[in-house]
Amino acid sequence: MAHRVTVIPGDGIGPEVTAAARLALDATDAGIEWIEAAAGAGALDTHGALLPEETLDSIRQTRAAIKGPITTPVGTGFRSGNVALRQELDLFAAVRPARTLPGVPVRHRGVDLVVIRENTEDLYRGIEFERGTREAGALRAKLRDLAGFEVREDAGITVKPISVAGTRRIVYFAFDYAQWNHRRTVTVGHKANIMRYSDGLFLETAAEEAANHYGAEYREMHIDHLSMRLAREPQAFDVLLLPNLYGDILSDLCAGLVGGLGLVPGANIGWEYAVFEPVHGSAPDIAGKGLANPTAMILSGAMLLRHLGEQRAARAVEEAVDAVLAAGRVRTPDLGGDSTTAQVGEAVAAEVRRLPRG
Ligand code: ATP
Repeated sequence: MAHRVTVIPGDGIGPEVTAAARLALDATDAGIEWIEAAAGAGALDTHGALLPEETLDSIRQTRAAIKGPITTPVGTGFRSGNVALRQELDLFAAVRPARTLPGVPVRHRGVDLVVIRENTEDLYRGIEFERGTREAGALRAKLRDLAGFEVREDAGITVKPISVAGTRRIVYFAFDYAQWNHRRTVTVGHKANIMRYSDGLFLETAAEEAANHYGAEYREMHIDHLSMRLAREPQAFDVLLLPNLYGDILSDLCAGLVGGLGLVPGANIGWEYAVFEPVHGSAPDIAGKGLANPTAMILSGAMLLRHLGEQRAARAVEEAVDAVLAAGRVRTPDLGGDSTTAQVGEAVAAEVRRLPRG
């Protein structure tokens, strides 16, 4: 086998969409040996941890993984398995392409966007103080001492750190991505007029770093204005470079623009490792029923193939997805069809096999 890849089926609809994606990827000639590993609520039962050490070790060995969505059971005191995975492996960049797919009913045609989201900082850093705790009280007192800030006694507090080093590398990554993928503009979304020392720093650092790159044009836009423009005229945008929280929100917005969560792939990438996963969550409402659309997971697999240097196989999977969607005979209920998750996987795999090789 040419490549070893860790595969994490995950929770909810995860195992179903992962199985479908494996069908499609195994139909290419990329030669992937799958190393199964566990994470999420299921892993808590079988391994006693949301993110077992052996799963991290597997990814450290294979360097690339494909992962279904995982859930973090509420009220167990565990931090999110997704956030932990990104932090443990320093997967600082989330890449989420959203493009119009053939045969999918949408409001806007010709959308071709890529969200690049900073993955490790911002309000997702997990620096939180619960209302009424001793620590929250001490922080309130400190804030008063330091600068006269009065925070209400009944407030919970989440801290938003954004660093120069953390920003510099995501900006570098975004411009590098733009260059390799023939993208023309990189638009930074921010709220620097309100959060001067976090978003302000992000913006200032982005502008400085952008000056070192010539491939794509650099633009800046307030995040609220950007949201409005995206809803009205998404074709005007290309790469969107966003701090963590805005990136999370606008990823779903962009998914909505091209037909829904079942269609949008993603990757979490660091200097050393890469984990490919759809933007959607575990969707417990439709889990185990064969209703989930595996397209997002299959297209995440195409991104994995490209990352492995298997350009031709990646293109074959994307073309096969397009062909199945365009034909419209095999589609899951979210797209108005009555096919199962597995049937979509089989149809894409059959199409991959039909495409000319070499
Ligand atoms: P989580 O807590 O893991 O994020 P969630 O249910 O809150 O899960 P998502 O799973 O991202 O959030 O999705 C929200 C809804 O979108 C789901 O309840 C489901 O109805 C729909 N959905 C998500 N992914 C798919 C998919 N692949 N195919 C069809 N519908 C989907």
